[in-house]
Amino acid sequence: MDNGLVDAVVIGGGPIGIETSIELRRRGIESLVCEAGALGHTIAWWAPQTRWFSSNDRIAIAGVPLHTVDQSKASREEYLNYLRSVVDQFHVPVKTFTKVQSLVPVDQSDEPKWRLAFAGQTNSLETKAVILAIGGTDFPNRLNVPGESLPHVDGYLREVHRYHGRRVLIVGGRNSAVEAAIRLHRSGARVMLSYHGESLPTDGIKYWLRPEIDGLIRSGSVPAWFHSRVIRIDSDAVHLQVQTPAGEEEVRVEADDVLTLIGYRQNQTLFQELGILSDELEPKPIFDPETMQTPRPGIYVAGTAVGGTQSSKYQVFLENCHDHSTKIADHLQRRFDSRRSTVESLSLHRQTESLDNLRQRIGLQPES
Ligand SMILES: Cc1cc2nc3c(=O)[nH]c(=O)nc-3n(C[C@H](O)[C@H](O)[C@H](O)COP(=O)(O)OP(=O)(O)OC[C@H]3O[C@@H](n4cnc5c(N)ncnc54)[C@H](O)[C@@H]3O)c2cc1C
Repeated sequence: MDNGLVDAVVIGGGPIGIETSIELRRRGIESLVCEAGALGHTIAWWAPQTRWFSSNDRIAIAGVPLHTVDQSKASREEYLNYLRSVVDQFHVPVKTFTKVQSLVPVDQSDEPKWRLAFAGQTNSLETKAVILAIGGTDFPNRLNVPGESLPHVDGYLREVHRYHGRRVLIVGGRNSAVEAAIRLHRSGARVMLSYHGESLPTDGIKYWLRPEIDGLIRSGSVPAWFHSRVIRIDSDAVHLQVQTPAGEEEVRVEADDVLTLIGYRQNQTLFQELGILSDELEPKPIFDPETMQTPRPGIYVAGTAVGGTQSSKYQVFLENCHDHSTKIADHLQRRFDSRRSTVESLSLHRQTESLDNLRQRIGLQPES
C-alpha cells in the first residue's frame, strides 16, 4: 500500500462493506476495502455449522442470489463461500489483516481528504471518502468477576467436538446461549445454564429453539439456575449467587468449561477519535439517515456499525442495512459529479484564457 490517493476506503470486509464497495464501483467510484481480520471476520468466528436465522434472500448482497444445497438457511461455511465468490466475481479489492488504526483529516479547505494509518504498518493512505462498515461485535461482553481470565472461560462457542464428555456451564439466556446449550447437549457434553432472569426471555429466542430448550430444562437434562449471577470462577467450579424464595444463596457448580455467551461490544475507538458518538448511555455513531454521512465531511457509516453496541435485543441486522450502500453511493456520486463538473468548467475556463493569451500574442482578434 503506498501513499496514493484513492476515491474511497471501506473499513470492514463484512457483507455490508463488500456490498458498498460493489455499489460504488457500479457508479464509477473505486474503493479499497481494509479488513482487520479475514474476509467476513465476524461470521468466521461463529462456531462451525452455525446457521443464519435470516432467510437467504435477506442476507444475499449485491444482487447475487444465495443458494444452499438443501434450501435451508445458510450455514457459516456456506455464507463464507458465498462471500468469497462475490468478492471474486466483482474483483473487489480487499486487504485482509489490515486494521485501520486512525483517521486524520488532511487539508479540509477544498474538499474532504483523510489519511488512514494501519496497525503495525508505517505506511499510510489518503482518500476522499471513508465508509466505516465496522460492525458492532468486536469483543465479548465481560462478567467482570474474579477468575474470568482463566483459560477454560471463553466468550465464544468453538467447534462443538471439543466439549464432548465435559461439564460446560453456559452463562446467558438469549439465542447464542440457548443454541450453544442445545448443540452441546446433542454432542455429548454435560450442559448447565445460568441466567440472571427469572426464566428464559419470552421474546427474541429463535422459535425453533424454544420448545427444545424448554423441554431439556424441564426434564433436568440441562440443569438451569435462573435468577442467578456469577460471583467467582475457579479452575474447577463456578460460584453463583442464586435468588430463591427463601433469600439469596451461594451455589458452587463444578465445570470444566465456562462459556459466557452474554453478547458482544463494538470497538468505538475510531468513532471516539472522530468525535462522532452520541452522548447516550450506550453511544452510537451520529449520521444523517438520508446520506449516511457523519458530521465529519467525507466520513460515512454503514451496516450494523450504526447500531453501536446493541443490547440483548438486536435492532440492526445485516438484513435491514442493505439500503446503506445505495445511500452512500448516491451521495458520493453527487459529490464527485459536481466536483468533476467544477473541474471541467475550470479547465474549460483556463483553456479559453490561454487561447485568449495566444491570440493576443500573435495579434489576432477573436473575430478574425
Ligand atoms: C451467531 C450469530 C448469528 C447471526 N445471525 C444473523 C442473522 O441471521 N441475520 C442477520 O442479519 N444478522 C445476524 N447476525 C449478526 C451478523 O453478524 C451481522 O448482521 C452481519 O455480520 C453484519 O454485517 P456488517 O457488514 O454490518 O458487519 P460485520 O460482518 O461485523 O463486519 C464488520 C467488519 O469490520 C471489521 N473491522 C472492524 N474494525 C476494523 C478496523 N479498525 N479496520 C479494519 N477492519 C475492521 C471486522 O473485522 C469485521 O469483519 C448474527 C450474529 C451472530 C453472532
